[in-house]
Order: sequence, then C-alpha cells, then structure tokens
Amino acid sequence: MEKRGILYEGKAKQLFETTEPDVLWVTYKNQATAGNGAKKETIAGKGELNNQITSLIFEKLKEKGIPSHFIERLSDTDQAIEKVEMFPLEVVIRNVAAGSFSRRLDVEEGKDLPFPVLEFYLKEDALNDPLINDDHVLALELAAEEEVAELKKQARHINQALISLFKQAGIRLVDFKLEFGKTKEGTIILADEISPDTCRLWDLKTNDSLDKDVFRQDRGDIIPLYQEVLNRLNQL
Ligand code: ADP
Ligand code: UDP
Repeated sequence: MEKRGILYEGKAKQLFETTEPDVLWVTYKNQATAGNGAKKETIAGKGELNNQITSLIFEKLKEKGIPSHFIERLSDTDQAIEKVEMFPLEVVIRNVAAGSFSRRLDVEEGKDLPFPVLEFYLKEDALNDPLINDDHVLALELAAEEEVAELKKQARHINQALISLFKQAGIRLVDFKLEFGKTKEGTIILADEISPDTCRLWDLKTNDSLDKDVFRQDRGDIIPLYQEVLNRLNQL
C-alpha cells in the first residue's frame, strides 16, 4: 500500500488516500488546539504520543471484541485506517462531572455521576460544535433512528471497556469523545482517535489531569503526561 494525495487536513491529523480504495493513511500532527482552534500551538512529540496511545487503545478494544477503523500502526506518527463515511457527530460520555457539563449545569467538577451520561454534539466548527439531542439528530437527518440506537449502544459498551482498561492503568476515565462512521457495507464502527486529546484522564490516586485540560488551562507541559499515559497502558 502506498500513500496518495491528501484528502483532508484537520486540527490534529492529516488524512491521505492510498492505493487501496478503502484504506486511508492518517498522520498525527504536533498541533494542539483548544476552544475550537482559538488557542493553537505546536508541541513536539504530541503526534507520536497520540498515535501510539490511540493505536494501543484500538488494539485493546479489538481484543475485547470491539471493532474500529484501525488497521495497523505504520510508523511513529502514522496509521492505516479503514475509510468510513463519518457521522457528523461527536458522542461524548461522562462518568464524572467536568468541563462544559460542570460549567453549563453548575455541577462540582469531580462529582461521580449516577450513570454514564451520553451527549451528542454536532461536528460543525462554524457553529462551535453545539450540544444537540436525539430529536435534533433525527430532524437534521444526521443519523436514522436505528443508527442513533446503535451509536448509543456501542458508545456505552466502549465506555465500559475503557473504564476497565484505564482503571488497570491507575486512571479514572472522567469523560471522552467518540466519533463513528459507516463502512461501505453499512456497518457502524468506531473511528477517529481515543487519546488524552479526546478524553479526560485523572490519576486514580491524586486526581491530577493526564490530558489536554493541562494545555486548555495553561497548567504546564502535556508531553510528560501523555508519555505517562502511554507508559502505563504499555505495561498492561
Ligand atoms: P478535526 O476535523 O476536528 O480538526 P482531526 O484533525 O482529528 O479533527 O481530523 C480528522 C478527521 O478525520 C475528522 O474530521 C474525522 O471525523 C475524520 N475521520 C476519522 N476517522 C476517519 C475514517 N476512518 N474515515 C474517514 N474520515 C475519518
Ligand atoms: N472533546 C473532544 N473534542 C471536542 C470536544 C470535546 O475530544 O471537540 C472531549 C473532551 O476532551 C472531553 C469530553 O469530550 O474529554 C467532553 O468535553 P467538554 O464538553 O467538557 O468540553 P470542553 O470543556 O473540553 O470544551
């Protein structure tokens, strides 16, 4: 398989076509953004770490019977992935109150939620990725009713798998964002990435952040934290 022309350049990754029609080549960039790109920096080593962490997590999920777009890691910063038609949705699951949930609803950060709260956001930078509900998803024809049910079922299942994976690594999975797509056969699978850029990960003992919040809030260097997440996952 060889890399062909660029298909899309996002905030964190570049997608390339390949000589295989259903396979894309993704390169993880060293760019960090927050607030929908309002804060932007180049951070050496971030691409490698997120590529390695995401690859490892997708492999662990596969071992637990959860498929994804991940085919193989090609290099420090690159992966081969199955090309899918993305739902323009971000599926967020929250186990613990934090971030926009805490701000919007005035709930103390760190409060355990009685059950995992699932939210949909419309993936549309121009609108700042607004929070939407199931009816919005249906009315805007972003997904069909059975697909909404399937997205929720898979996201909740992935949450359980990730909670247990991170717990073994001494990490509390506070919340995270998933993206899904449809294969050419019409199967809904997990896509995009799962990394400290897309999850809130707190050390189980200290509750210290091991994720992008440290960048969002100018609390220091994220590289040693992402490295710590990778090291812990590598030891499992
Ligand atoms: P953003 O678009 O938010 O800036 P990225 O830089 O991470 O984010 O860009 C990656 C893009 O690739 C996202 O738009 C994501 O939805 C899309 N994507 C992820 N996995 C796949 C896939 N398997 N097939 C097609 N597109 C994908
Ligand atoms: N998230 C993400 N991409 C986004 C928005 C959110 O990966 O475009 C993740 C974020 O890292 C966190 C979870 O989704 O783990 C919930 O984010 P929240 O709504 O609290 O927004 P934030 O406060 O991060 O802007």
